[in-house]
Formats: sequence, structure tokens, C-alpha cells
Amino acid sequence: MYTAELELARALVAEACTLTRRVQAEIVSSGESLAKGDRSPVTVADLAVQALAGSRLTGRFPDDGLLAEEDSAPLAASPTLAARVLELVRGSLPGLAPGELAEALDRGAHPGGARGRHWVLDPVDGTKGFLRGEQYAIALALVEDGRVVVGALGCPNLPRPGERGVGEGFLFHASVGGGAWATPLEGAGPVEIRVDRIDDPAGAVVCESVEAAHAAHSTQAGIARRLGITAVPYRIDSQCKYAVLARGEASVYLRLPRDESYREKVWDHAAGALVITEAGGRVSDLDGNPLDFSAGRRLATGRGIVATNGILHGQVLEACRAELSG
Ligand code: AMP
Ligand code: MG
Repeated sequence: MYTAELELARALVAEACTLTRRVQAEIVSSGESLAKGDRSPVTVADLAVQALAGSRLTGRFPDDGLLAEEDSAPLAASPTLAARVLELVRGSLPGLAPGELAEALDRGAHPGGARGRHWVLDPVDGTKGFLRGEQYAIALALVEDGRVVVGALGCPNLPRPGERGVGEGFLFHASVGGGAWATPLEGAGPVEIRVDRIDDPAGAVVCESVEAAHAAHSTQAGIARRLGITAVPYRIDSQCKYAVLARGEASVYLRLPRDESYREKVWDHAAGALVITEAGGRVSDLDGNPLDFSAGRRLATGRGIVATNGILHGQVLEACRAELSG
């Protein structure tokens, strides 16, 4: 099932990983833009990946929509930026005309919804990690009638299972009923991955955001304490959290919003959530409801995200409830 879609998703995400690596290598070697807090390198990478995706999808699946994070407005505001983005995209699409760049980017304006097919893209997820020279992801999913059916997650700096820090990179993919798979960006073919089988929460590792603004670290620490967890949290940017959970390096992913009214964006979770469920895990909001991707650019689901190896899900939700009510 979804063979052609998976093929496109994997090829596109791999191509995007090559592109973002090139940009990240430049900022890491210069060092200067990081010190100045200049976000332009990540803007360049974001726009180039989205334009590449827009163009490739038009070629392969012209009738599918694309719901993506960026648009062409920054190009109009800066000719220098537009020239840099065009140069990068032309590394993959040599024939792309300047006038086609904005069109390819604005293909990402699909509103989403519960009917038909649309792709969901986060061109660079974890921009803070990208700028620090650490972890980030390229996340692409296909949503059909409101349900995620294909997911591809490029994690260009992810190390081998069991290792931490910057490594050689992996591409994860999943389709409904087809399992979850990991492929090193360089080298061997795909290997099927599964979540761990830990059934005693005390032995679990929790993964969470690096950025304190994206999740309530202290509340999450309280939940971990209630579960008897002693391991320090595995902090890692982007949907790489879903990837490390899916391959058994953590048993729980907590994402409790600091602001109760925050609703998560669909592109931050669509690909990762399918990789988790296909690896045998479970993903829900704090009330245990499955994530609902059918309502547009934000999740229709209630507050928070809890992902686990499945076995621990009930206990983790219970600990969340206890912590939040006490
Ligand atoms: P992280 O998992 O911490 O790397 O999260 C990266 C994502 O967090 C970005 O793609 C943003 O869309 C998202 N984000 C931005 N602000 C918030 C917030 N206040 N709460 C939760 N997520 C956020
Ligand atoms: Mg993101």
C-alpha cells in the first residue's frame, strides 16, 4: 500500500537532508551567524526545502494538496534571500526559473481538513537545534481523509541507536499497516524498528524538548517523579523525539504546553506520530484522545502530547492527571 507515495516521500526527504546539511555545515563552520543570533541560515534552508517539495509533488502527484509551514513572502522582501534559496534549490532542480520559486513555495498553502489527500510538511523542524548545529528533522506526511497514512522523517544528525550527540543521520518511514523503518542516510538498506517493551515505568527514559519554551520541563519532571523515573530526561530537538522513541531509546515522550491555550501545529507531529504507532507505540493528548489531524493547520485534539511504547501509556496518562490536578 502507498508504494509510490512512500517512494516519493523517502526520495524527497533524503534530497532535503542533503540540502539542509549543506546549509548547516556552512553555519557551523562560520560560527559567526550563530553568535549574532542571525536566523537567516534556517530561513534559507526552510524555504529551499519547501520549494523543492512543492515542485516535486506537483510533478509526481499534481492533484494532492500541500500544507506546509512557510510561504513566499520572505522572498519578496529580500532579493538576496531569494537568490540564495534559488541557488540551493537549483542544486536539485537545475531548470527551476526564478518565477517558479514563489509558485513552488506557495503550493504549501493548502488549508488541510478532513476530506481528500494532502501532504503535510515541516521543512526544517527544530530550527533552534539546526542553528545550534545539533538535531533537527525534515518531516513529511500524507493525510488522507483526515488520517496520516504515510510518514517520512529525515534526521540528518541523528547518531546510531544507543549513541548521543551528532551522528551520521537516519531516515525513518512508515505507512499504515506497513511498519516503521529506519535507513542510515549513507549505507545499508532499511531496518524495521520497534518501540521498547519496558513495562516498569521506573526503568523508562523520558524524552522532551531542549527548548524550555516548548514544554513545561518542571511539570514533566513532576510526572517522571510520580512514575518513579530516575534517569535524566533525554532532551533532543524536533521530531527526532519520535524517532528515538520508535527505535527503543526512550519509552515516553512528554510535551505539556506551558500555555494551556497552545494548540500544536499538524506539521510538528504528523510524520512522527505515524512512525510511533507503526513501531508499536501510542500517541495521544493528555486525555488519551488520538491526535486529530483533520481540522486544518493545528491539531483539533486537546492539550499536550503523550507518546509511549504503548505498554506504559495508561500509567503515564494517570501520572499526568495526578500531577496536573495536584
Ligand atoms: P521541539 O520539539 O522543541 O524541537 O519543537 C519544535 C517545534 O515547536 C517548532 O516546530 C514549533 O512549531 C513548535 N513550537 C513553537 N512554539 C511552541 C510552544 N509555545 N509550545 C509548543 N511548541 C511550540
Ligand atoms: Mg516544526
